[in-house]
Amino acid sequence: MLKTAQRAPDQPVELNRCYDHAVVIGSGIAGLTAARVLSDFFNQVTIVERDRLESPEDFRQGVPQGRHVHTLMPRGQSILEQMFPGLLAEMAAEGAIKIDARTDIAYFQNGRWQTPQRRTTSIASSRPLLECIIRRRVMALPNVSVITSCLVDGLKTDAAGRQVTGLRLRPRRDANFNENEVTANLVIDTSGRGSKAPQWLADLGYTPPEEWRINPFVAYTSRLYQAPANFSAWKTLYIPPEPPHGTRGGIIVPMEHGRWCATLIGVAGDVPPNDAAGFEAFAQSLPAPSFYEAIKDARPLSHPNGFQRTENRVRRYDKLPRYLEGFLVAGDAAIALNPVYAQGMTAAAQSANALQQSLRAQQQQSPDALVGLAADFQQKLSQVNYRLWRIATTQDWDWPITEVTDDSED
Ligand SMILES: Cc1cc2nc3c(=O)[nH]c(=O)nc-3n(C[C@H](O)[C@H](O)[C@H](O)COP(=O)(O)OP(=O)(O)OC[C@H]3O[C@@H](n4cnc5c(N)ncnc54)[C@H](O)[C@@H]3O)c2cc1C
Repeated sequence: MLKTAQRAPDQPVELNRCYDHAVVIGSGIAGLTAARVLSDFFNQVTIVERDRLESPEDFRQGVPQGRHVHTLMPRGQSILEQMFPGLLAEMAAEGAIKIDARTDIAYFQNGRWQTPQRRTTSIASSRPLLECIIRRRVMALPNVSVITSCLVDGLKTDAAGRQVTGLRLRPRRDANFNENEVTANLVIDTSGRGSKAPQWLADLGYTPPEEWRINPFVAYTSRLYQAPANFSAWKTLYIPPEPPHGTRGGIIVPMEHGRWCATLIGVAGDVPPNDAAGFEAFAQSLPAPSFYEAIKDARPLSHPNGFQRTENRVRRYDKLPRYLEGFLVAGDAAIALNPVYAQGMTAAAQSANALQQSLRAQQQQSPDALVGLAADFQQKLSQVNYRLWRIATTQDWDWPITEVTDDSED
């Protein structure tokens, strides 16, 4: 029996690292939490990241959604706190703000201000702050390292094409690693919505996953403001879009350093403009005046920034007819959710939990090999994320424009 079996991954236990080298593609929330889990089972874990990761709190090119509202929901908080004890206190010390749904949110729906029924507490901060604190924890682990400024370009396999053996790399000029390949016993793709894993598998003769998409055509445009001094009317303002015809909404969420992230939301192709005048005009058109009233006298800290890659998309890696052994896919690369429900980072953390469960079972049954792990993990992942998929897609059906694509029907 493994000594790690009954404990959270953070506990000081005698680890049984029976596997050699794992490589994680991407250092977003899914990649960092996967690396945390893998570090208990592998002698060495390497993260390969296309960005430079130089200035820890900057918005990153590889995470364009990071400029928009990112709140961490309760389930995500509890998984992350278990993985990184003290993380929530550390976030609070660096300026993250607790939001109690019943007391801190001004919530306007159905033509009136309402008190949300559920007593949930979310954590508001910039996405770079959350990522930076988690990254610091992961990089402090002695057996984890990161290759930066390096694009992963494809998979390498053994001669029979059955087992992954590493990755093909394209290091940029400023990369801290200059080889074009890295070897590994396990590769996990957490490269986000832009993941090329289906193509990589197809190039190797594997059937790529079927894909389902449910798209209500949600667009975000966000702008940062310095919150006015002594503002205390609410911590978060939320005017959700309301199907089937209320295509416009907005949310203002506090961030560290006294800032607001003010996000306009348009659904069904009603895209909030990217220029300052258009942003303000859209804000004035919301069902309640409070959003515009809040921003009109606040000092802008950025230009409005738009984002439209928001559809719910699941790639059915749990239903592949044949698996490339040792190759796993998690986070947005496997299941990406409409951001309006703020569940994506929780889904990423849940991916890491599923990985831990699969690795524990694998270690007990087969401490010398990783055969069977890929199929087991993708099935566990689909089970744990099914609830979040339901949360994110149920209301989306109420928009008449919602487009459903199911590749398995082609
Ligand atoms: C507008 C918007 C708002 C959101 N708001 C919330 C919210 O409030 N709460 C919430 O929980 N979730 C929210 N989400 C969802 C959340 O952003 C994602 O679910 C989460 O970031 C997924 O993490 P990930 O690690 O899978 O992918 P990502 O965070 O996208 O990370 C992927 C990483 O892979 C790297 N990468 C990509 N390709 C390569 C390659 N070929 N080689 C090497 N590295 C590569 C990228 O640089 C990046 O670092 C929001 C999403 C959007 C679009």
